[in-house]
Amino acid sequence: MPELPETETIKRELEDTVVGLRITGVDVLIERVLRMDATEFARRVEGTTITGAGRRAKIIMLHLSSGETLLFHLMMAGSLLYQPAGMERKEKTQVVFVLDNGYELRYKDFRLFGYVKLLSEADVTQAPEFAHLGPEPLADDFTLDVFRERLARRPRACIKALLLDQSFVAGLGNIYVDEILFYARVHPLRRAGSLNAAESARMYEGIRSILTHAIAERGSSFSLFVDLFGNPGNYHNLLSVYGQTGKPCPGGCPGVIEKIKVAGRGTHICAHCQK
Ligand SMILES: [Zn+2]
Repeated sequence: MPELPETETIKRELEDTVVGLRITGVDVLIERVLRMDATEFARRVEGTTITGAGRRAKIIMLHLSSGETLLFHLMMAGSLLYQPAGMERKEKTQVVFVLDNGYELRYKDFRLFGYVKLLSEADVTQAPEFAHLGPEPLADDFTLDVFRERLARRPRACIKALLLDQSFVAGLGNIYVDEILFYARVHPLRRAGSLNAAESARMYEGIRSILTHAIAERGSSFSLFVDLFGNPGNYHNLLSVYGQTGKPCPGGCPGVIEKIKVAGRGTHICAHCQK
């Protein structure tokens, strides 16, 4: 599933390519992805200009000149592609936004779990997607003190489950949580309340630096992630533990990366380093 770095990559590419363009047509090929009537959707979107792109957690937004917002949730296997109108549309393309520069923005979802929503200005603030989200981990106001306060509220929670919990901090998923826990040298089964000051500081530093680095590398292309231009990211080549089962620990210890199960998720650790 695309996590924060992959979603942020697409958002930045949208900012550079489609903001300022007018949507001259909408083709809905699979209506149920919209969560609303396709005719109504097209009527409200056609003729608007894209005024901005945004992201919250793993959700991408496009703001329209009408004041309404398009919201894209890629879920497991969705992608947004910016392609010339003349290029063949891929299988499982669900919604196409025809742009006034000869290109199209195409939403496709291999597994059909993702969705596209159109929200009025009032609806955006009320959207259930945003109701219970924790802080953005790269925001200026997500400080070490804020992180520690939030850990202190859930002392008995398993640290891996907590980092995956979107209400604790938004945008992390299985790949980056495994990387962050290794960076902090903390075992995923530890209770949040058991972390000492050095461990919570290392974990906070890991969250910020790993996400920043992963965005710079345009995300990880495990599973099906591709960016707006159909290119894979590069960060999966730089992962320390995720997907590295059986390899020597990159920390230089004598350990080997193992895969265990934590919070119902395949979890990659160096049991030698992560205590
Ligand atoms: Zn190790």
